[in-house]
Amino acid sequence: MPDNDYYEVIGVIHIHSNYSDGSKHIGEIAKIGEHAGLDFLMFSDHGTLKPLEDGHQRFYGKVAAIIGYEIEDENDENHYLAFGLDKTLEKGIDPDEYVKEVHGAGGLGIIAHPDEVRDALPQYPCFPWTRWDVKGYDGIEIWNHMSAWMESLKRINMLKMAIMPRRSLRGPTARILEKWDEIAKSRPVAGIGSTDVHAHIYRKGLIKLTIFPYKVQFRSIRTHLLLHRPFSGDIISARDQVFEAIKNCRIFVSNFRWGDARGFQFFARRKNRIFRIGETLDFSSELTLNMYSPQDADIRLIKDGRPVLTQVGRGFEIAVQSPGIYRVELYKNKRGWVYSNHIRILSKKEG
Ligand SMILES: [Zn+2]
Ligand SMILES: [Zn+2]
Repeated sequence: MPDNDYYEVIGVIHIHSNYSDGSKHIGEIAKIGEHAGLDFLMFSDHGTLKPLEDGHQRFYGKVAAIIGYEIEDENDENHYLAFGLDKTLEKGIDPDEYVKEVHGAGGLGIIAHPDEVRDALPQYPCFPWTRWDVKGYDGIEIWNHMSAWMESLKRINMLKMAIMPRRSLRGPTARILEKWDEIAKSRPVAGIGSTDVHAHIYRKGLIKLTIFPYKVQFRSIRTHLLLHRPFSGDIISARDQVFEAIKNCRIFVSNFRWGDARGFQFFARRKNRIFRIGETLDFSSELTLNMYSPQDADIRLIKDGRPVLTQVGRGFEIAVQSPGIYRVELYKNKRGWVYSNHIRILSKKEG
C-alpha cells in the first residue's frame, strides 16, 4: 500500500548565473528550468546577493527561483551555500562563523562539494570541505555533478566528456557516502544533489563548446522534496517549504538521465503510522521498511553504511530486524539513479 499523503516537488540546487561565473541571466535559466519541468531552482552565485536585491527571488512561470550565495573562506576553501540571508556576511570569516551566522539567522546552509578530488586541470584546483569540526550545517552535497565530472576527467577524454557530460555520472563517491552515514548516526543531516552548473564556454582552436549547458544539467542530478502541503504560489512561503523539507531531510536525489524518479517512495510503517524519509523513530517489533520505484531498478537497502538487501525490481516490504540508519540506493546498468536520505531507527535508549 503506497503512501499518498504528501506532495513531491523537484528542483536543481547550486546554480551559478552571470551574476558570478555562470553564463546566463537568471530569467533565462529559470525559463530553461520551467521547460525541464522543475518546480524550484536554487541559485548560489559566488560572494553576492545582488540577484536578491534585484528582485530575482520570485516565480518565473511555474518555477520558484530561490536566491542564496556561495561563501568561501580566506583560502578559497570550505565552500558553503547560504540561503535565507538578507545580506552577505563579512568576507574572510572562519567557516565556524559563517555556519553559525546562517543557522542563527534561520537560514539554510549546505556544505558544497565536500570531498572534491581532481588533478587533470591544474588551472582548476579543488575546494574540499576541511572543517568537519564545525557544527550547525543543515546539509551536505552528496552528489555534485561538477566535482564528479572533474574527478573523472583526464586530458585524453576531455572532449568526449565535454560533449556528453552526463555520461560520467556513476553516482556519489564512496568517500562522501561513508562520511554522510557516519554523521547521520548522531544527527539527521540532509544529503542533497547539486549540479554546480556554470555552463562554461570552452574554446580551443576552432572548437567552441558550452560545458554543461543549463538545459542538459537540468536533466541530470535533481533533488526531490516531500512537502506536507501543496507547493505555495507565494515565493516566500514556497522558499520556506523548501527549507523546511531540506532541514528535515525529506529528500531523495536522482539522476534524470536514467529515468524520471518522480513517485519513488521509501518509508517505515508501524501499523497505520507512516514514517517518511528523514524521520527518526524508536525501534520496535511490527515495524516494516517499504520501498516503491516507478521503474525497475537494482535496489540496495543500506543499513549503517552497508548493503543489507539487494534485489532487482520495483520495491520491497521487509520487517525491520534491528535498529540502524537506513537508506536506499537504486541503480540502472550499474549507474547510480536514486539515493534516498536516511530513516533513522534507534534503539529506545539512544532516542
Ligand atoms: Zn564551490
Ligand atoms: Zn559553485
